[in-house]
Amino acid sequence: MIFAYVTVVMFKRTVKRKIVCEGYGLHTGEFSRITIHPASGNDRILFAKKVGSTLKYIPLGIDKVKSTMFATSIGDDQFTIFTVEHLLSTLHGFGIDSAIIEIEGDEVPGGDGSASLFAEAILDAGVFTLPVKKDSFTLESEFMVEHNNGYIKYRPALTLTIDGIIDFAHPKILKQQFTYHNTPEHFYSEISRARTFGFLKDYNTMQSLGLAKGSSLENTIVLDENDIMNTDGLRFPDEFIRHKILDLLGDLYTIGNPLKGHITSYKSGHALNHLFVKKFISLLEKSYVTEDQVLQPALAYTV
Ligand SMILES: [Zn+2]
Repeated sequence: MIFAYVTVVMFKRTVKRKIVCEGYGLHTGEFSRITIHPASGNDRILFAKKVGSTLKYIPLGIDKVKSTMFATSIGDDQFTIFTVEHLLSTLHGFGIDSAIIEIEGDEVPGGDGSASLFAEAILDAGVFTLPVKKDSFTLESEFMVEHNNGYIKYRPALTLTIDGIIDFAHPKILKQQFTYHNTPEHFYSEISRARTFGFLKDYNTMQSLGLAKGSSLENTIVLDENDIMNTDGLRFPDEFIRHKILDLLGDLYTIGNPLKGHITSYKSGHALNHLFVKKFISLLEKSYVTEDQVLQPALAYTV
């Protein structure tokens, strides 16, 4: 039997003070601003946006994922926010599980294409530990999902580790592997600065889909047939797999709670990541919850 529970390992965290990040969206190219407000231990991650004169809220949860095409968008019939993954990755990496994120605009600012904009701002503001125990989701069984030529495997573990592998035919990427342990320190030093990347040959397709309108060499590693077009080169020799892990960590957080387990990803992307979190939640929903380990019902993620 699959066995799931809400594991308690530490206390919930929020930001010490209000944080403002602004800039242009990678896909819409439009200016936007997010304000991350500290929240109480009773709160989770809530998105907020003024619609007319009313502030509307969307609690982070897998049922709010609206699109996974090239980026992850969340929303409901009130509003939609595009490209949330780098922000969510930063919150997951820093262990922040209580915050109200108010957005002015439709897309999270893109910064330099990595998570640096958010990571530096959170580091500057500081993190506040709340007197409420943290809830993490985990399963006691292994499972795997596949999509196109990629897969993501899960096995139970007491902490979150991601083993990421990619294999591109491009001579500047080829096969890359990186193991990430989810701690604020490891996230900040090894993952947060890894930028998004794209191939010049795909640029026209993305533009015709209304995507990548804000992307440039300032916020994207661009690859032509044989080389990297950015004159400053790479921040890490394996920056590509590090960014794939950054994306996966963010997409995992669409569950709405931190996750524990050992995850191996091969050729991951937003669509595969979303298949994985959907499967994870379906197994969690089916699973047995023991009284002595439960602080709240496993289904409470739909709050
Ligand atoms: Zn990304």
